[in-house]
Amino acid sequence: MVIAVYPGSFDPATYGHLDVIQRASVSFDKVIVGVLHNSAKSPLFSVEERVNILEKATKDIPNVIIKPFNGLSVNFARENHAQVIIRGLRAVTDFEYELQMAQTNRVLAPDVDTVFLTTSLEYAYLSSTIMKEVAYFGGDLTKFAPAEIIEAVKSKIANRVQE
Ligand code: ADP
Repeated sequence: MVIAVYPGSFDPATYGHLDVIQRASVSFDKVIVGVLHNSAKSPLFSVEERVNILEKATKDIPNVIIKPFNGLSVNFARENHAQVIIRGLRAVTDFEYELQMAQTNRVLAPDVDTVFLTTSLEYAYLSSTIMKEVAYFGGDLTKFAPAEIIEAVKSKIANRVQE
């Protein structure tokens, strides 16, 4: 049984992330999406909210589960008996950082390999940050994420503006 973890911030998940998850679920027996408790960035959604959003968005894929995690991706992989870490690659701009991370992880954990899934072309430009920026200025989000996620982003931003 080949288990893969897919770590990230997912603040919140976009069609780009969901596409990677869907495709990974075909190649691996089990895909565990790890939602990072990232204190360095100040996320729009809490880790519980991000987990909840991903659970709803992936409910129809039986071999995908969502878990929060802290710390190193290689430790998260080992705790879950995963042999593989999945990362998405959009453009050359992702490449240098991702290569460095993959090499570091290989030094830390030679038994865990990184597998890159290249983005589907229609999502190559898409990131959680871009989606949030468009949302702040009231733009149309329908190309970026499913309706439930769009609603969550809009209500979160409306609450923030009121604060
Ligand atoms: P991180 O903060 O770890 O980069 P993200 O939530 O931004 O977390 O991304 C998690 C992973 O998903 C990363 O490997 C990233 O490259 C990938 N990813 C993000 N957006 C897309 C997209 N549109 N297409 C393919 N992969 C993507």
